[in-house]
This record gives sequence, C-alpha cells and structure tokens, in this order.
Amino acid sequence: MRFRALAALAATATLVLTGQPGPAHAAPPKQPTAYGYGGAVVTVDPTATAVGLDVLRRGGNAVDAAVAAAATLGVTEPFSAGIGGGGFFVYYDARRHTVHTIDGREAGPATMTENTFVDPATGLPYAFPEARVSGLSVGVPGTLATWAAAARRWGTRPLSSLLRPAARVAEQGFAVDATFRQQVADNAAAFGQFDATRELYLPGGAPPAVGTVQRNPDLAATYRLIAREGTDVFYGGPVGADLVRTVQQPPVSEDPIGTWAFPIRPGGLQLSDLAGYRVRYPAPTRSDYRGLTVYGMATPSSGGTAVGEALNILETADLRHLPLIQAQHRYLEASALAFADRNRYVGDGTPRTTLRTLLSDGFAQARACLIDPERALTKPVAPAPLTASGCPAGVPGGRVEDGQSTTNLTVADRWGNVVEYTLTIEQTGGNAMVVPGRGFLLNNELTDFNFTPTQGTAPDPNLPGPGKRPRSSMSPTIVFEYGRPVLALGSPGGASIITTVLQVLVNRLELGMSLPEAVAAPRASQRNSPTIQAEVGYRTQFQPGLAPLGHAFGPDTPELGALTAIEFGPHGQLIAAAEPVRRGGGAAAVVVPGSAPAGHSGAAARR
Ligand code: GLU
Repeated sequence: MRFRALAALAATATLVLTGQPGPAHAAPPKQPTAYGYGGAVVTVDPTATAVGLDVLRRGGNAVDAAVAAAATLGVTEPFSAGIGGGGFFVYYDARRHTVHTIDGREAGPATMTENTFVDPATGLPYAFPEARVSGLSVGVPGTLATWAAAARRWGTRPLSSLLRPAARVAEQGFAVDATFRQQVADNAAAFGQFDATRELYLPGGAPPAVGTVQRNPDLAATYRLIAREGTDVFYGGPVGADLVRTVQQPPVSEDPIGTWAFPIRPGGLQLSDLAGYRVRYPAPTRSDYRGLTVYGMATPSSGGTAVGEALNILETADLRHLPLIQAQHRYLEASALAFADRNRYVGDGTPRTTLRTLLSDGFAQARACLIDPERALTKPVAPAPLTASGCPAGVPGGRVEDGQSTTNLTVADRWGNVVEYTLTIEQTGGNAMVVPGRGFLLNNELTDFNFTPTQGTAPDPNLPGPGKRPRSSMSPTIVFEYGRPVLALGSPGGASIITTVLQVLVNRLELGMSLPEAVAAPRASQRNSPTIQAEVGYRTQFQPGLAPLGHAFGPDTPELGALTAIEFGPHGQLIAAAEPVRRGGGAAAVVVPGSAPAGHSGAAARR
C-alpha cells in the first residue's frame, strides 16, 4: 500500500528508447529512465537493451528477452559478462505465481584443493593479480548453460534464435564508448600478455579510440556454432577443448605489450569438468520486510541472505520517521552486521537451515540490539552465534572484496513475468585471456574463494574445493506486495553489490525517493570494515552527521555499482530505471511508452 502510494508520486520527462538493433555503428539512443506499459528492458548498454526490447516487441517473453540481451552484453560488455563466465538468474512466473532461480555460478575443477591459491614455494597465498591472471582462477563457466536452461524451461524461443541478434552485433560491430575504452586501458598490461586478447582489444598496441567500430567475428562464429549444434560444443566439444587448452597452457605471447610482474600459472580445469557442469535450481531466499516479500539468490550467492538479514535488522526501527542521519547510521550498521554473519556462515553448501536462521526475525533482533543510536560499532564486528538471542560481542572480519566488474539486467513482459539477472566474469576483463579463435574472455571467478582461512578457529565456509562454487555477492532481487511484483533490481560491484541493492531499497522504500532518484543517489558501502567506502557525494552529504557517531570514511571511491531496476506501478505501469551517470549511464526502454505518474516530488521533499 505504502509502495503503491509512493509509486504514484513518480514523475519526470518520459524518455523511451525505440531503437532497433539496426546498423552496427549507430548506437541506439540511450536513456536511463523510461515509463510505460507492455514490457520493459533495462541493461547498462543501449544495444543490449534494444535487442531485448525487439524480442519483446516480436512477442517473446521476459526470459527470451533476457537471454537475447545477455548474449548481446557478452559482445558489447565483454569485460563484465559472456559465455566465459557465470551468474544468477531469478525468474518470476506470473501465470503460476512462482519465483525460480538458476545458479549458473562457475564451479571449481575436480583438481581444485584448499591450497590452490597458496604458493607451494612459499606457503603464502598468491598476490591477487597473480591468482587472477592465471589458469588457476578459471571456474567452469555456467553462463551458456544458464541461457539454455532458462530458454528451455521458461522461454518461448529456441536458444539458437536468441543468440542470433548478438552474433549479428559481434559481426557488424558497435561503437566503442568511453567506458569500453577505459576498461581496456585499465587492463592494458594484462591484456597485452596474450595475442588473442591484444588483437581483439589493443588494436595497434593501444586501447581502441572512442567512436571506432569494435567487431568480434570469432565470437559471432562461436555463437553461430552453438546455435547450430547446441551447447555441447562448449560443454565437452571443440569450443570447450580450446577453453581447456587456454587454461592448461595459458597462451602467453612471445611478443607481449608491456610487462606483467607475475608468473602466469596454468590451471587444472579439464574437458570432463565442462562435460560434467550442471546449473542448479535452488529455491530463492525469502524474507519479509514491512509487509513486502523479498526474494533473492541463495547460496552459493550470499546476496539473498545478506540483503534479507540487513533488511530484517532495519525493520526493527522506523526509518521513515528517524532523522536522516540516524537512518543512514542504521543502514551502515545493519550492513556491517550482515556482512559479519555472511563471512562466517555463507558459502557453497551452507545448510538451508542456516540460511533460514540468518533470515529469521529473531536473529535480526539479536543483531539489531547491538546498534547504538549514538555510537557506531567498532569494526569489524564479530559474527553472532546461530543461536543468538541476546547482545554478544566479539572479533573477526573477512577479506575485503572490492570488485568492479559484472553486469545486471532487468526485464518484464506484457504477461507480468519478470527476470532479474546478474552475470559476470569476476574482475573487469576476467582473467585477461581470450580463448584463441573463439572470441570470449575467461572468468577469474575462483578468486572469489578465500585463499586461506579467514575465520580464526571457526570453519571458513568459502575455502576452495573440487567442484565447489565460490561465494558470490550477486543479489538479483524481486520484491512483492500482496503477491505481485512491485520492484526488481540488481547490480554489479563485487561485495558492494549487497550494499548497493540494500541502499537502493532503503532509498526507495524508506527515504521518499522515486526509483530513478533512489538509483541516482550517492552511495556508501559498509562491509564490516573500519572505514566506510563511499562516493564523494555521499561523504560530502553525510560525513558531518556520521563522523560524530564514530563512522570513519576511507578515500572516496569513484562509483559503486551500476544498478538496473523496474518498478511495477498500478494498472500495469512500468518505471524502468538505469544509472544516469555510473558506468557511463545505462539504457532503459519500454514496449509501449507512457507518461510518468504525476506529482513526483522525490527525496528532497522528505527532509
Ligand atoms: N565475482 C563477484 C561476485 O560474484 C562479482 C564481481 C563484481 O561485481 O565485480 O560477487
């Protein structure tokens, strides 16, 4: 009810993307916000959004559009997503009123051990860049299997037809933008070590200029081969064989551009690992928040439990009627507490009963009672015992994961189905190795495992193991009211994904912001560290109020996340929102344009 009332307030100019996935070099128009009906697509990229919208216009459903858009992101956002990586797909089936998920997370190979990231020569963990740019970091990719499973189970089009527009974009090319160029520049040293990567992304030895056309004929051919012959060409066939060769014998250039300070180590992934890979279909996590029901991703992602636990902690206070600084204080404290518990308990294979405990109101109560309105907790805070009912005290934290990569998309169709999908190759640029002749980058997802135990004498749930999937922070989330979706959202950003999704929920549900405002607002991330990671806008606004409570800020971070979201208003109205600025801005589009709801005043009106 509250949600609907707020939805009715939204209003700004109606800007709708109507571009088709037309001639390659003309990027479709890009707008961060769209209002309307009949379906919507939001991604970080205008070409991918246009491809998804075209699928919806031709009668495809949300799953069809999501897969086609994701395949296109594999071309236009190759440093964040692609068939060399993995992800988590959340689907609301409107006819059956059910929420399903696909765990397409990369898996460790059979040869993986607890010591895979420990240097046998020194007994010390590898430096992160050394682990990343190696064969050791490559998990069995789950993205292609995710697309195939989603299309088969819930789609209305064969995978082959959903790969076709993306193959066309790869073949004809697209215009390089400033974000793309910068991502290459940031990775130039690593990319320069591998001929296949440098030929594709360092033409003439330097990052491509903004506005030049980027083509990837090898990836077009790979997509077409998969379309013709099926996913087995990847999971055990010739594409897989090339992938395995790349992992086992990293194709280090004899004539590299620049120097790389670390040895480039081979990995142990085998063709049998690819042949044995299966997506999983875990039940979503579910938690209640002030009458809303929040569905998220279960393990191996920690997104569902961490977002849900933090919301449960926040639910114990009336945020809307607290002074704004107190609301921010509670947001930061709830997030730190949820991270302590996530680090202690959540990993691949965490028992479902543990997840339920983490999402229970009783557990949240015990955590919430630690929050002092006048004093920030000393970080790191200790995890709570699963039996928590009082106000314990303690110690350890976890490794600070601070990824920048990954991409997210949100799709809704005219039938009311919704897809929230986060996919990644881990770091921007993955492990920097393009599989020669196949046109896609490999992931370094296995570096999401803890390299060595982080939990003191307690067991660490996120140590590497054979076939095990590394813990993720990806948080594709769908919120329901009275059994109907009201909001779907997700973001990249490594461990800050959790706080970005949480913060946008708090902004939207509690702080009086419209969805576009909630997305655009400056962000902060408190992941149980002594200092808060924040964008300059957040620090400038809130440090004066938060510092006296004991909150310390680290150096400003340029940006946190690149969120996409759709809000479902009354009478089928859709508000589709992407970032206006972060990552160069995203692209939102609706099938049937409409006007924005009138009378929108936004966050400023509340304070
Ligand atoms: N690998 C990260 C995770 O699964 C995501 C990487 C990123 O967003 O930078 O949580």
